[in-house]
Amino acid sequence: MNLTEIFGQNGLLSQAIFEFTPRESQQKMAEAIEKAIEFHSELIVEAGTGTGKTFGYLIPIFLSQKKTIISTGTKNLQDQLFFTDIPVIKKIFSFPLKVVLLKGRANYLCKQRVERNKQEGLFVSRHLVSELYTIDAWAKTTETGDISELSTVAEDSAIWPSVTSTSDNCLGQECPFYQGCFIVKARTEALTADIVVVNHHLFFADRALQEEGFGELLPGAEVVVFDEAHQLPDIASQFFSTQLTSRQLMELTHDTLAESAESANDMRELPEKAHQLQTILHDMRLMMGPELRRLPWPDPLPHLFKTHIQSVKDILQSLEEILKIAAVRSKGLENCWRRSLELMTRFHLLTGNAPPNIIHWYETYPQSFTLQFTPMIVADSFRAYLEEKKRTWIFTSATLAVKNSFQLFIDSLGLQKALQLQLSSPFNYQQQAILYVPRHLPDPRKADYMDHWLEAVIPVLELTEGRTFLLFTSYRAMEYAHELLKDRVSFPLLLQGTLPKKELIAQFKALKNAVLLGTNSFWYGVDVRGDALSCVIIDKLPFAAPDDPILKARINLLRKQGSDPFYSYQLPNAVLILKQGAGRLIRDIKDRGILMICDPRLVGSHYGEAFLQSLPPMRRTREMTKVNEFWTQPSL
Ligand code: SF4
Repeated sequence: MNLTEIFGQNGLLSQAIFEFTPRESQQKMAEAIEKAIEFHSELIVEAGTGTGKTFGYLIPIFLSQKKTIISTGTKNLQDQLFFTDIPVIKKIFSFPLKVVLLKGRANYLCKQRVERNKQEGLFVSRHLVSELYTIDAWAKTTETGDISELSTVAEDSAIWPSVTSTSDNCLGQECPFYQGCFIVKARTEALTADIVVVNHHLFFADRALQEEGFGELLPGAEVVVFDEAHQLPDIASQFFSTQLTSRQLMELTHDTLAESAESANDMRELPEKAHQLQTILHDMRLMMGPELRRLPWPDPLPHLFKTHIQSVKDILQSLEEILKIAAVRSKGLENCWRRSLELMTRFHLLTGNAPPNIIHWYETYPQSFTLQFTPMIVADSFRAYLEEKKRTWIFTSATLAVKNSFQLFIDSLGLQKALQLQLSSPFNYQQQAILYVPRHLPDPRKADYMDHWLEAVIPVLELTEGRTFLLFTSYRAMEYAHELLKDRVSFPLLLQGTLPKKELIAQFKALKNAVLLGTNSFWYGVDVRGDALSCVIIDKLPFAAPDDPILKARINLLRKQGSDPFYSYQLPNAVLILKQGAGRLIRDIKDRGILMICDPRLVGSHYGEAFLQSLPPMRRTREMTKVNEFWTQPSL
């Protein structure tokens, strides 16, 4: 069967799927992927919203019957692919292929840690104890151990880190539960599958290739598809980084305390050193200041940094020495000893001098901090990774090109050899959407900007009767806007951070007149079709914070190389983010909506055109009267 017989008018998909609309762009994508699979090529495909890119790649993969890894941007998209899209294709074509969903370690219950918590009874909160017993009962009935199955325990419950494992604390083959371990089972299933669905973080997670089963999985794959590939440069950058979080050290102290209580309660120094390490890590976090921020590693090191670092090193060293003696007492203590060695080596590395071309930085969180070495450029490492074995690599997303060029994406991942395909959206943007850039708004960097913003936004919210996403470039602006809006509008306001993202979206859809305020994660991967979302309002052009240590270092490098970092790096990255945010608006052929961008630099700056040329071709206006006319005209 050829692709026209599948995708074309009266093709198989038209016959099998109610309301399927044949799209030339979708068929073109499938043809390009079929060819890429045949010739083991690298292929970049930007498929505008509505192209139907999922079927565009799934069908040629199924037809090829090659071993494939499909990596998506998030766990939700993984579930959508596995539970919704793939079953449709399997049903239509009766393909006998085995497809397996594989998530990261933290998504599977760890039987050993459940058992240990039950025996130790260390939870003080009744709520956590009750959750532990709910989980224990479920553990006896679940086939997969995938914690998302258990809806009676909240996904952000504090219990999960205690009953799931990390590559640090997993006992591996020494574990008494190894035979029935859910992770081992999921990996074994994945090894025998024809198609494995993962997410980018799992694909790229630190040491994922060895630790999470890809050591065996990836070499067997003949095709790798990255959906939502626009996220790859950032994720690859994390993957090629070396990092250590103070949480890992804290977890080591918790496990040491639990294990020593069980198997070495005569060795008093063990809990003593574990508590000392907790105290000094806490002090070191306080020494870094109350702000939550990312900063370059100080050079030269201030005295206070030096003394805290030395104290951590000394205590870690003593802890390691005692754990070495205690290791013979139990597998758990042996695991703690190995971890202490590994973490101590990493702590020494990340508090020493960085090698050339490495960005040395740290980040602070409310209770913890991370130390990082990030490569200045990941393209060479990623290129080497692609060339390990001849296979097909597909990179697809709705937003990869800036002004119709893939150069930024190509340069960031070393994809100079890749074939390229850009497919525009089949939506009629001229009819379906209007871009509104209000007049007379001040520069968003001015102090009174948000007050003007409010006055411009309220008439639009009233016109669309809520049903709006307000997207912000910072938490501060989002929270301030929330304060301002509370007293001025009667629509339900949903604020990011007050509920899990999934729940906020569900409420937004159900309410049908809500206004949702969100920052970064709401710019991506949110799909609200129909009237519930009729308007997207963006506060300002999403340039990355110029004081970010990674951005700063890369800007300096580009300057040294003679490039203009603004035009070659900062601007194209901001364009891609704006495209993502704007892409939330029109999700279906029947959707209509208003895109309001409140940043006058979009039309008044020398670089504004780069943004405008990359947005979908919707009609444009600076007048509210035109927005009114558009909104009140009969629907399509
Ligand atoms: S093998 Fe690791 S993940 Fe599996 S039950 Fe044992 S400790 Fe937990």
